[in-house]
Amino acid sequence: MAHVVVLGAGTGGMPAAYEVKAELGRKHEVTVINAAEYFQFVPSNPWVGVGWRKRKDITFDIEPALKKKKINFIAQMVTKIEPDKNRLTVENGETVDYDYLIIATGPKLAFHEIEGTGPIDGHTHSICTIDHAEKAHTGFQELLDNPGHVIMGAVQGASCYGPAYEYAMVVDAALRKKKRRDKVPMTFVTSEPYVGHLGLGGVGDSKGMLESEMRNRHINWITNAKVAKVEAGKMFVDECDRDGNVIKNHELPFNYSMMLPAFKGVDAVAAMENLCNPRGFVKVDQYQRNPTYKNIYAVGVCIAIPPVEVTPVATGTPKTGYMIESMVTAAVHNIEHDIKGEEPEALGSWSTICLADFGDTGAAFVAIPQIPPRNVTWAKKGKWVHLGKIAFEKYFIRKMKKGSSEPLYEKYVLKIMGIKRLK
Ligand SMILES: Cc1cc2nc3c(=O)[nH]c(=O)nc-3n(C[C@H](O)[C@H](O)[C@H](O)COP(=O)(O)OP(=O)(O)OC[C@H]3O[C@@H](n4cnc5c(N)ncnc54)[C@H](O)[C@@H]3O)c2cc1C
Repeated sequence: MAHVVVLGAGTGGMPAAYEVKAELGRKHEVTVINAAEYFQFVPSNPWVGVGWRKRKDITFDIEPALKKKKINFIAQMVTKIEPDKNRLTVENGETVDYDYLIIATGPKLAFHEIEGTGPIDGHTHSICTIDHAEKAHTGFQELLDNPGHVIMGAVQGASCYGPAYEYAMVVDAALRKKKRRDKVPMTFVTSEPYVGHLGLGGVGDSKGMLESEMRNRHINWITNAKVAKVEAGKMFVDECDRDGNVIKNHELPFNYSMMLPAFKGVDAVAAMENLCNPRGFVKVDQYQRNPTYKNIYAVGVCIAIPPVEVTPVATGTPKTGYMIESMVTAAVHNIEHDIKGEEPEALGSWSTICLADFGDTGAAFVAIPQIPPRNVTWAKKGKWVHLGKIAFEKYFIRKMKKGSSEPLYEKYVLKIMGIKRLK
């Protein structure tokens, strides 16, 4: 019998636990360890920020869901990983031994890298967690009472640009609904070299599409931007040229701001030098397996991926839901192979298929593979994306509550693309 431990119960960890249980069967034990007792559907956080969703709509208790599938659950923060001993230590000092470890710890939000950013010690909001999104909602209500400048965007080194655009558009739509938009000048500040780069070198005509969308919504923008620091009500931004030299210093006043931070690996994982790159992301081979510790796999935002291209101001590569699902399926099948004494052969497909909601409409992006040159690169706008995102939210939360391991990505998307899953 093998004991598979899944570290992290987010967008990657929960499906990984269900899929590994379904594939390996009863003979093997699966344990999930997560810092919080509840699951949160991160993609809906922009809606929480404007009050279109409440915490109860997008979170649920993990334990009862996992119990139905006979998966153990430990609601503790992991503080130490000892890969040579195949052992984890959790916050209360207890240890957990594993035969296989799937790391799915998502990002550490690196607000500390830029003075004055973040919702805890700083002056900017975040929508990266449900707690942050609720705080962003309180700020949004204050903005309705006291309208003024809004700054949205993503700082240098960020990799998750889609949600920054989403939140800018959703806030714009919410302000229009409340008849307050005319009192709110909006600026989008981003480290991307151009609007619509998305950390992906653009997808189809994402540049033209998003620029047009921003113009239609009267949202100004500053690209190649480095946030130097933030004070209460004022953001200091250095605008750079294509060589990365500062060409203009901006002092931007704001009543409300949401800036996506750069990501790092979480502390317990980043502490493992042999496991991680210098920013604490887990190094994996094509089989989602760490090259040093071959019984450790990693999926989701916590894995190391190089930037798609060098940009004047640092940008990272996003890791999105469908891509994460494909990593999960590959990791699970390779653990299965290893248990049977076979060589790993399942590969994650590492493509981007992303729905970005704009409140009343939305944009869909497809990049296959994610790193150019690509076989498919496609971006389309329409109200159907807004509805598609709502459908995806309902589908994913239902699937996680039910304990279904069905890998949508592998089942439908790869079939449409004519790519066979490797077993
Ligand atoms: C605001 C936002 C919106 C997004 N929207 C979309 C979208 O619409 N579509 C899309 O495809 N992608 C989207 N993404 C990108 C990506 O899909 C999500 O970030 C996704 O949640 C990443 O999944 P993950 O499993 O890697 O990490 P997470 O979902 O963040 O899960 C990590 C889990 O690990 C736990 N954890 C961390 N450290 C420890 C520890 N030491 N011990 C125990 N537990 C730990 C955390 O508590 C958490 O539960 C979005 C990202 C953000 C930030």
